[in-house]
Amino acid sequence: MIEGLSDPVIMWFRRDLRLEDNPALTAAVSSGCPVVCVYIHDDKTPGLKQDGAASLWWLDKSLRSLSENIASRGGKLLLRRGNSEKILLQIAKEVRAAGVFWNRRYGAAEISLDQDIKKKLTDRSICVQSFNGSLLTEPWVFKTGKGSHYRVFSPYWRTVQANYLPHPHIKAPKALATCDVRSENLDDWKLHPEKPDWSAGFSPIWTPGEQGARERLSDFLGGAVSNYCEHRNRPDVEQGTSGLSPHLRFGEISPVTIWRAAKARIEAGQADEKNAMVFLSEVAWREFSYVLLYHHPELAAQNYNPAFEHMPWVRNDGALRAWQTGQTGYPIVDAGMRQLWKTGWMHNRVRMIVASFLTKHLMIHWTEGEAWFWDTLVDACPAANAASWQWTAGSGADAAPYFRVFNPITQGEKFDETGEYVKKWCPELSRLPRKFLYSPWTAPELVLREAGVLLGSNYPYPIVDHKEGRARALAAYETMKQRRDAA
Ligand code: FAD
Repeated sequence: MIEGLSDPVIMWFRRDLRLEDNPALTAAVSSGCPVVCVYIHDDKTPGLKQDGAASLWWLDKSLRSLSENIASRGGKLLLRRGNSEKILLQIAKEVRAAGVFWNRRYGAAEISLDQDIKKKLTDRSICVQSFNGSLLTEPWVFKTGKGSHYRVFSPYWRTVQANYLPHPHIKAPKALATCDVRSENLDDWKLHPEKPDWSAGFSPIWTPGEQGARERLSDFLGGAVSNYCEHRNRPDVEQGTSGLSPHLRFGEISPVTIWRAAKARIEAGQADEKNAMVFLSEVAWREFSYVLLYHHPELAAQNYNPAFEHMPWVRNDGALRAWQTGQTGYPIVDAGMRQLWKTGWMHNRVRMIVASFLTKHLMIHWTEGEAWFWDTLVDACPAANAASWQWTAGSGADAAPYFRVFNPITQGEKFDETGEYVKKWCPELSRLPRKFLYSPWTAPELVLREAGVLLGSNYPYPIVDHKEGRARALAAYETMKQRRDAA
């Protein structure tokens, strides 16, 4: 509360593009001062990780939705592009702001920038208040018995379940004030790809914005959540998972809202408790990633486990390109990479398969995979992407052991139960009998001909033999351990 002040306050939106359940916005409105809503597209501050192309597509739509929501309450979203520190100080001066409100960020560069800005504002007698608007709990709250942050997920999840209590629902403000400060035009930012517009496959699937997020949550909790345990590993089941990740990533919905809604359904007997709790445990994996990112800011660039500095990674641009474009010759891998390219999203089970394939069968460094996902995922998240890549590569906290090499043939057979996933994304294989769908090169010539598959022509031969790839990965792992011990 800023008492006795009638000058406006600034609500600085960042990764919290929503009006409901937004602690910083609510506090700004409760100050009783007129609220100036601002979004700054900061592509100038050195060291800030810039959004990838798919995320920019989402951002464009999400900002339009937020602008409309603010306008429908009588307010205006000021859009500015450039160095956020400079711009924020300038706007604060222009409107004679009494205070600035924001929800916290957790990457090292963002924390340091926010600290600098806070200092400059308070030096000018402008009060700054920050809040937790993106996580269930701040990453420093839950500690092990030894007083450190959690490095293993299971005990972390037990602690969350035993101790976490969501705050009561915070309603969106009914009215917001407008202001006559100059805003830039979103069209001029050209966040939507134009030449070429490769995003055609995104729009039919996604509805960026707060309403889209709420509808997705309500649809999911109203049905699919009760089959979550069975379907969450099935890429062939449409909407077996919530699809909330990009909405969470842009803060169009808060994990607190998700938690509260899921618990309410359980209590009302409208959702199966076991399934809904497994769903919430996945939301807690996202939290756990933020715990790791906060305590290990170098997570996206450096091995969490330093032994992996000794891994003999291979540089192979041709193989990397084949992986990126879905041309590896392993249908489940190719289907996943093509789903990613076409829709900006990939099923979690398939993310694990393609990541294992890159880092083990191809022995390509996980940072290459992290970078490609960063550019192509609409849910590209600084914490979950880095932590999940390290998890799959074996170098992360509580990671899958490196020697567990996913078999891309049996993984396809097991999880794409109906075959519909591979058939959808690799239509050139759609007439192959299921027996050969995950290993077309094992099909007899006649079967291939009847199915219209011409290996090496309309579908590639495998770029690496599974057994040889696996053996090479295991040998590399031994080399890594020897080098580590010798170092
Ligand atoms: P649901 O199954 O409905 O889960 C609900 C929510 O829980 C998700 O929206 C997400 O926020 C969270 N969640 C689910 N699984 C995980 C997980 N394994 N780790 C962390 N959070 C999870 N997720 C991202 O949000 N952004 C990323 O950039 C990202 N990169 C990944 C890279 C790799 C190599 C792998 C293996 C996983 C990655 N994930 C990432 C995690 C996971 O694949 C996605 O969160 C999930 O597929 C999103 O779909 P959903 O919303 O339908 O998930």
